[in-house]
Amino acid sequence: MCLRYDVSETARHHAGGSPAYPAPVERLLVELTRLPGIGRRSAERLAFHILKGDAEGADRLARAIQEVKSEIGHCSVCSNLTEADPCPICTNPKRDRTMVLVVEQPKDLIALEQTAMYGGLYHVLLGRVSPLDGIGPESLTIADLLRRVDDPAGNPDGVAIQEVILGMNPTVEGDGTALYLMEQLRDRPVRVSRLARGLPSGWSMEMASKAVLADAIEGRRQLKHEPGGA
Ligand SMILES: [Zn+2]
Repeated sequence: MCLRYDVSETARHHAGGSPAYPAPVERLLVELTRLPGIGRRSAERLAFHILKGDAEGADRLARAIQEVKSEIGHCSVCSNLTEADPCPICTNPKRDRTMVLVVEQPKDLIALEQTAMYGGLYHVLLGRVSPLDGIGPESLTIADLLRRVDDPAGNPDGVAIQEVILGMNPTVEGDGTALYLMEQLRDRPVRVSRLARGLPSGWSMEMASKAVLADAIEGRRQLKHEPGGA
């Protein structure tokens, strides 16, 4: 039996009041609107697209969503997304284990990796300090980073970290996060630098071109020399 009715037509008949769509469509819309940046209208567009497509396409999408949850986790060292733990960056013997570049999200790490300009390790905070959204330092992986700095055993091959590069986005929250980290690292025996401001304020790393990011790495500003004082 063909179940391919025109959902937008059904919606028009039921404008206002009770749910406009059959229950399975409503359930899909509810789940889609839970995604960031997806409002009711976008959810409808996605749902109609899935309904119009073939069953294999819907299966592939459902499988991809399940697999991303069952097969991908966070690296126990750097918190990057990975299939293997530790991740391929942490286990790569060619990378400089004395340097750690701290970023907000895995997507920032990917943008920086695409420049092929950085050969050290990373630490992914999985967010940024944002008091207005109720995100404090304890909700991020800052404690894990400080443990890596304090105890070389927490770093691949037990190599001690000598330089921490702050790679937060140039936003108010990114700056606040960098300041907080700088405070935490002040009395620890590591150099601290910050990526150069090639990035226009308010921009995010994923929007920057490779060249701009490469400049930001090369021109990083030292904030603090090795042990102790600024
Ligand atoms: Zn890792």
